[in-house]
Amino acid sequence: MPSSTARTSPPPNILVFLVDDMGWQDTSVPFHSSATPLNQRYRTPAMARLAASGMKFTQAYVASVCSPSRVSLLTGLNAARHRVTNWTMRRDRATDAPHPTLVPPAWNVNGISPDPATPRAICAPTLPGLLRQVGYRTVHIGKAHFGAADTPGANPLNLGFEVNVAGHAAGGPGSYLSEQGFSGAWRQADAFWDIPGLEKYHGTHTFLTEALTREALAEMERAVHDQCPFFLYMSHYAVHVPFAPDPRFIERYRDAGLDPTEAQYAALLEGMDKSLGDLLDALDRHGLSDNTLVLFLSDNGGLSAHGRGGPPHTHNAPLSSGKGSAHEGGIRVPMLVRWPGVTAPGSVCEEYTMVEDLLPTLLEASGAASRLPALPPTDGRSFVPLLRQTVVSAPERPLYWHYPNIWGPTGPGLGPFSAIRVGAWKLIYYHADRRFELFNIPADISETTNRLADCPATARALAGQLSDWFRQVGAQMPTDRDTGGLVPWPDVALAAATAGTGGPRP
Ligand code: CA
Repeated sequence: MPSSTARTSPPPNILVFLVDDMGWQDTSVPFHSSATPLNQRYRTPAMARLAASGMKFTQAYVASVCSPSRVSLLTGLNAARHRVTNWTMRRDRATDAPHPTLVPPAWNVNGISPDPATPRAICAPTLPGLLRQVGYRTVHIGKAHFGAADTPGANPLNLGFEVNVAGHAAGGPGSYLSEQGFSGAWRQADAFWDIPGLEKYHGTHTFLTEALTREALAEMERAVHDQCPFFLYMSHYAVHVPFAPDPRFIERYRDAGLDPTEAQYAALLEGMDKSLGDLLDALDRHGLSDNTLVLFLSDNGGLSAHGRGGPPHTHNAPLSSGKGSAHEGGIRVPMLVRWPGVTAPGSVCEEYTMVEDLLPTLLEASGAASRLPALPPTDGRSFVPLLRQTVVSAPERPLYWHYPNIWGPTGPGLGPFSAIRVGAWKLIYYHADRRFELFNIPADISETTNRLADCPATARALAGQLSDWFRQVGAQMPTDRDTGGLVPWPDVALAAATAGTGGPRP
């Protein structure tokens, strides 16, 4: 776009459509090289419509679990730097499960806070706050999970959002059912989980996903009426547990003979997709589609270690494992971007991106990057050049993951870990037993073959790069109960593991 055009165009509206715990294969849109059995199972026509009119990213990455990814999205900072490395819940309380040999570090259990005096919280400029400064109406709908209860960051209104519907400290819904008042009382859960602000839907047989969609549509209409550009952060509680049967879609999957839990899951996905379709329809109806950037993303991989039907760790196949894991099933998610006039319809981007890239990307796309007096530091990179296809291949940038925490379940890639990806290679360092895995991701997307022993130089280089960066940002490591010392940096651990052996051992 010529700069003269850029100056006279109104800033694009931005719709970020964030799904919770949705896996890379939880869609009828193929994100792998060809359609998989899971693509055949699920029905997401609105995603297909968005993909056909925009760009599909096959290697979009996020952090480990809910709050770390969401804080990275809001701040443009990597989890190792913002230190909200695990999911947040109550003020000053960690959510880590017990571990036999490790004690997690003093991570930012209170999440993000606008107040630098809040202990154990990251205080940083936020994407909505920055967009608001340049005239956007900033609207939060749905799940927040940015800060712990009884801290300022629990409320999106304190984080740059002008409107908040249904967002608070909890990372999951009490219930999806209006008949249950979206409360967790039916399962004897604490009132902490009760979704606020949707009282008018109680008892109306309106499924949670639908109620949130109606709220989003109303806010879109209000922004149109007031003629202001909007940043609509449509953050669904779906498809996080506790699953419930969405009566609009469940029959199809029951009739198909799916396991009852999986039928509920598939219906939740289709309800989420219906919401996306409704929002895309509304953009069309208001004549806004040509000047709205739509970005679809999930915050972590699909749940697979527990709570699902069928064998665990298989729900993101061909990816290994799921939510909480260092393997691809935990960190690779579906991403779609449509920016008319910029993204080519039906295009595919196979470069990798990271969740902290959203802030610099959306600041650039909105024009805020050139209008704000100063931009916050970020660990991300704008992927606007990828959207424009002005770069054929991005330089081999490093991506970093840091999860010095204990989620709970065990399985492939699960447990406290750090990881780095550069080009084809991903190195994972498991804190508990100082074990390493090295995978060539394009050649082995299912992470079946640990290449540590036959590519020692690659492993050393990656461990060095990861450790250098961790030292620079002050990444927090767990403490070893036996020695009382910190778990060593990856390069130190790799050197110790290989000393006298002539090479690393898997
Ligand atoms: Ca999540």
